[in-house]
Amino acid sequence: MELHELNIQETHGLLSSRKISSEELTRAYLERIQRLDPQVKSYVTVSGDVALEQAKKADERIKSGEGLTPLTGIPYSAKDSISTRGVNTTCSSRILENYKPFYDSTAIKKLNSASSVLLGKNNMDEFGMGSSTENSGFFTTRNPWNFDHVPGGSSGGSAAAVAAGLAPFTLGEDTGGSVRHPASFCGVTGLKTTYGRVSRYGLIPLVSSFDTIGPMARSAYDVALVLEAIAGHDPKDSTSRIEPVQSYSESLKKAESLRGLRIGIPKEYFVEGLDKDVDASVRAAIKQVESLGAEVMEVSLPHTQYAIPVYYLILFAEASSNLAKYDGVRFGMSERKTGDLMDVYLKTREAGFGAETKRRIMLGTFALSAGYYDAYYLKAQKVRALIRQDFQKAFETCDALITPVAPTTAFRIGEKISNPLDMYLSDVFVVAVNLAGIPAMSVPCGFSNGLPIGVQVMGPHLSEETLLRIGHLYQMQTDWHTKHPPL
Ligand code: GLN
Repeated sequence: MELHELNIQETHGLLSSRKISSEELTRAYLERIQRLDPQVKSYVTVSGDVALEQAKKADERIKSGEGLTPLTGIPYSAKDSISTRGVNTTCSSRILENYKPFYDSTAIKKLNSASSVLLGKNNMDEFGMGSSTENSGFFTTRNPWNFDHVPGGSSGGSAAAVAAGLAPFTLGEDTGGSVRHPASFCGVTGLKTTYGRVSRYGLIPLVSSFDTIGPMARSAYDVALVLEAIAGHDPKDSTSRIEPVQSYSESLKKAESLRGLRIGIPKEYFVEGLDKDVDASVRAAIKQVESLGAEVMEVSLPHTQYAIPVYYLILFAEASSNLAKYDGVRFGMSERKTGDLMDVYLKTREAGFGAETKRRIMLGTFALSAGYYDAYYLKAQKVRALIRQDFQKAFETCDALITPVAPTTAFRIGEKISNPLDMYLSDVFVVAVNLAGIPAMSVPCGFSNGLPIGVQVMGPHLSEETLLRIGHLYQMQTDWHTKHPPL
């Protein structure tokens, strides 16, 4: 097997036995990025110098044998909304094109302290708004399985990088499916963490009450290794959870069966419009989980049909407020053509934001304005509570739920971009999770016409260990996650 096909555990084995140095490994990834990324377009910034410097430090640490972790010397990439000190963090927006943060986000800091190696920053839909990366202010990432198709979004660059062997793991951000959706389209494993499990400090916000950082990698086991490195309470994020972080990978090593686990299948997720190959693959995955000892039962999440309108309404509102700070004065780009302040605001925002971002800012400003607030934003928050209650009720009888991640496999580039509603509907199975703040994982479970299919496992707050165990045992019996696109 080639280096870029190895998982974290295997790569760690080579590093710790000194069969390869982190510098050699990093050079191999940088060379592969240079050769293949001009076609895949998964990176906005490649931080080669930073990577080589960090790799040398990792090698010293490996030589000394002190404080090694499974991630020491392992290269990775991060979505471009996760702040990296001194390395461009653009949110794939023209308005932040040359923005270099002067501090690291907490998740990156934790990876630094494990001596992981930052290869660069991944393309995304502008500020995380989209399901295809076509809303990037720079370029569209291609699906490594078929370049005519989108990689999903908004963390499409991150998912494509892992699928194409341009990073062994990556950090994505999931506000309304952005880790799970592209993970399913690109055939990698992606975890949306419980709200607050991973610090949001340094994650450039889209919707502060939904945003989460989550790992994407080649297996559930690798995701577990990354999660235990980045999770935990952070005094710098007042919404971060104080519960201690479990050693997920240790518990996976001991996992043998799913006996005693009750899995619910919400009937609202198997409806008209669900592609027949996706339906068949997800049902086959459910059978596999059942054969591992789990008890499977049908459940109902009756308010599912409201998830899309409620999610988008709250998103428009919170995003319009979060994006107000890009005014041409404080961050990034500034169009100072005259001395008139209002002119600076208007020209900067006009030139700096893309069409979808402007659409959402306008809709959000409208929904929050006096006279409309109660009818839209407040009402949406009330329905959000009902959706959250649906999950609470389901979790009284089940330990986890299994559903498709997306109604179809990756669609064609250009297919949905001119119809925003059509694009929003691609998120129909992922957004309710964010309204409830619960964790959920996308696991590869099949292919249709050469494009990957993902199955989604959801669980109650802080049930990451259960989700990873289901994913891991499933992956011990199947090989969908081990497939590589022919590049
Ligand atoms: N498709 C979702 C949206 O456009 C993705 C949001 C996210 O998770 N960043 O809002």
